[in-house]
Amino acid sequence: MKNSPIGFDEALKLIQTPDAEMMNLISRADKVRCDYFGNKVVACSIINAKSGNCGEDCKFCPQSVHSDSEIEKYSLLDSNEILTSARAAEADCAHTFGIVTSGRAINRAADQENIASTVAAISTETGIGPCASLGTVDEAFLIKLKESGLISYHHNLEAAESFYPQICTSRTFKDNVETIKTAKRIGLGVCSGGLFGMGESLRQRIELFETLRELEVDSVPVNFLNPVEGTPLKAGNPPQMSPFDCLRIIAVARLMMPTTTIRVCGGREHNLRDMQSWIFAAGANAMMVGCYLTTNGREVADDMQMIKDAGMELE
Ligand code: SF4
Repeated sequence: MKNSPIGFDEALKLIQTPDAEMMNLISRADKVRCDYFGNKVVACSIINAKSGNCGEDCKFCPQSVHSDSEIEKYSLLDSNEILTSARAAEADCAHTFGIVTSGRAINRAADQENIASTVAAISTETGIGPCASLGTVDEAFLIKLKESGLISYHHNLEAAESFYPQICTSRTFKDNVETIKTAKRIGLGVCSGGLFGMGESLRQRIELFETLRELEVDSVPVNFLNPVEGTPLKAGNPPQMSPFDCLRIIAVARLMMPTTTIRVCGGREHNLRDMQSWIFAAGANAMMVGCYLTTNGREVADDMQMIKDAGMELE
């Protein structure tokens, strides 16, 4: 089969491609991306709709009560505020808009009602597709969101099963997998990826992609650690990844999942610096624009110019 997905062993070999041979790896991933997505790119944007005060203990996260990070903390934003941001994201040429909340899961009936009606408003009153990332929510709420017009549910696995207990102990890897399986079962698109540069091994990077491939997720966000002051991970001073490390991760993801959307998200500016435009040649066909949950992204106009300069065009 043309561009058949590479196996675990080949992926493990390729993620160790020496810098001097990176052009070979990149051109291979570029060809696969071209075959399935041409020069088209999709962009997404998010809103931090409920910030901080999270009882979970994800070691990378400044929103956890277990971190000393100084961030804005607030309860769920009202529907109009979220709708206004969705319209701004649409004006920024984003295709999808993600409502993201801190906390293990949105369980309060009033919050669920608020978010479902906001999703319905975005779906009927704007031209941008509503997504959501609301934690390990239950099936009934996911069905309600789907009926309200939600197109995709985002829930990262964050790291390989063998590494996950080192970054989060307040819930299990299985809890996260169950949320993904439920969203898929009820027919939602699923967006699930990870955060790299937290101290995981190269093998664990492949292990994570292998799990995501088995779960047949539709979109894989690739985030690179930008350690935030006050988080346990920052205190651990993890080694900074090089731009080529990031491009190896993107390329291997592309070659393991040829037809899946590979989406470059958090930590892009911090880790890739002047090599951000190489993400497409390395196999990415999607990116997050605008601000991240607790850190700023660069100007959207700069990203739009980068897409054009790289010979790509927005879908
Ligand atoms: S990543 Fe999400 S669940 Fe984990 S601490 Fe941060 S807000 Fe809470």
